Amino acid sequence: MHQLDRQAFDVIVVGSGPGGASVARELARRQLRVLIFEQGSAAPLQGTLSQMAGIAAVPGKGAFIHRDASLLVSGIAAGGTTTINFATAAPPPLPMFAAHGIDLAPALESLRAELPMAPLPDELIGPMAKRIQQGAAARKLGWRKLDKLIRPQICRTGCWRCVYGCPFGAKWTARNFLDEAVELGAIVVDRAKVEQVIVENGQATGVRYRRDGAMHQALGANVVLAGGGIGSPRLLHRSGLHAESSAFFSDPVIAVMGVVDDIDGGAEVPMAAGMYLHEEGIALADMTLPKPMYQAFAAQVGRLDRLMSHAQTLTLMVKIRDDIGGAIGPRWVDKTLTAGDRGKLATGVGMAREILRAAGGKKIFKSWHFAAHPGGSLRIGDVVDSNLQTTTRNLFVCDASVIPESWGLPPTLTLLCLGKRLGTNLAV
Ligand SMILES: Cc1cc2nc3c(=O)[nH]c(=O)nc-3n(C[C@H](O)[C@H](O)[C@H](O)COP(=O)(O)OP(=O)(O)OC[C@H]3O[C@@H](n4cnc5c(N)ncnc54)[C@H](O)[C@@H]3O)c2cc1C
Repeated sequence: MHQLDRQAFDVIVVGSGPGGASVARELARRQLRVLIFEQGSAAPLQGTLSQMAGIAAVPGKGAFIHRDASLLVSGIAAGGTTTINFATAAPPPLPMFAAHGIDLAPALESLRAELPMAPLPDELIGPMAKRIQQGAAARKLGWRKLDKLIRPQICRTGCWRCVYGCPFGAKWTARNFLDEAVELGAIVVDRAKVEQVIVENGQATGVRYRRDGAMHQALGANVVLAGGGIGSPRLLHRSGLHAESSAFFSDPVIAVMGVVDDIDGGAEVPMAAGMYLHEEGIALADMTLPKPMYQAFAAQVGRLDRLMSHAQTLTLMVKIRDDIGGAIGPRWVDKTLTAGDRGKLATGVGMAREILRAAGGKKIFKSWHFAAHPGGSLRIGDVVDSNLQTTTRNLFVCDASVIPESWGLPPTLTLLCLGKRLGTNLAV
């Protein structure tokens, strides 16, 4: 372990998801001394259920159950939630950020040029996604291949392990940017939970963190919180710099499933294709998941008769842009759907049923809702300014918390853009 308490860093970054890794890499490229703390592990990804469960299914850490029994999931690991996400890229809604004086276009252009980001070639699209696409086409819906952060030359046909954490390096994760930052001199300390931001005379000067059961401190001229939509508001609150509870969005999802009798599949990359209804705030995509995850959906709604039908079941994801509400507190996370949210989900589920029927699906059923995009909890224009700075000088936030409005999109690419912009600005 480095003698971190004896060094002064230009920037301390808390959290290593896309927001944190992007800002850290940008700063390291500009020769700033960067220290990154990550409470999760940097152990190599194995693509196993047990490792994924440790990253995203530990209650109170990566997994939160709301009072209405819905589940909210995020990843606790070096690379954050990108380690276990579905690798879909959507461009940032530029006008939403422009309304706050933030131009993400230059960062987007530069990231597009370097990220492995494109629709999957046909040979990597599984038979279930193709059948769903046929169903959508029969309904005359604007279904199209989605951009994926996947290296097609490494990705394997018939593989599904990206969902558990791709062990082959085919899926881009924020670890790729972390590795670059480290090559350029940044230091990453994993299994280190930042407990508090140190503030002197209204200015952030470092952090206190826990590692191996002992408390330590590290000093930095700037501190960037990138602990994600849940982690960052909690840390601000623990530091005495924010209210106990923060409202948020979570982009709720329902899985809609139907069985077909002429496919024997179940092993493919999810979200190969889909559609966004931007006005309505509804997104649909194919979502073939590994057998244990499918079985969890079926068991959760009492469809024990369907537990063994994974290889024949087409699954569609219905995701909505929910209203900001609920509460992220020091020890709880809770959100119930509004009438508007329920209406959007019902519309999306109705469309998914039509697509499944057109694809030959029968015995259609749906899961309970769950969510995987906590954000909007420290919004631009509310808690942070257009430079992502809090009211405490030299204390910034750069993750899904700062998204200024209800969302409903894959957030990763937007967070990479925000991180790139903040890193560039901080280095000036
Ligand atoms: C199953 C699933 C599928 C998804 N699919 C997609 C997709 O296809 N496309 C897409 O764009 N998005 C997807 N997402 C969402 C996306 O991955 C997240 O929105 C994104 O990673 C959030 O980035 P972030 O930087 O805000 O935080 P995170 O990625 O959550 O990273 C935050 C990190 O900070 C660490 N941290 C928190 N607090 C502390 C602390 N006090 N001290 C030290 N470390 C701390 C956490 O351990 C975590 O590693 C998916 C999510 C899930 C769960």
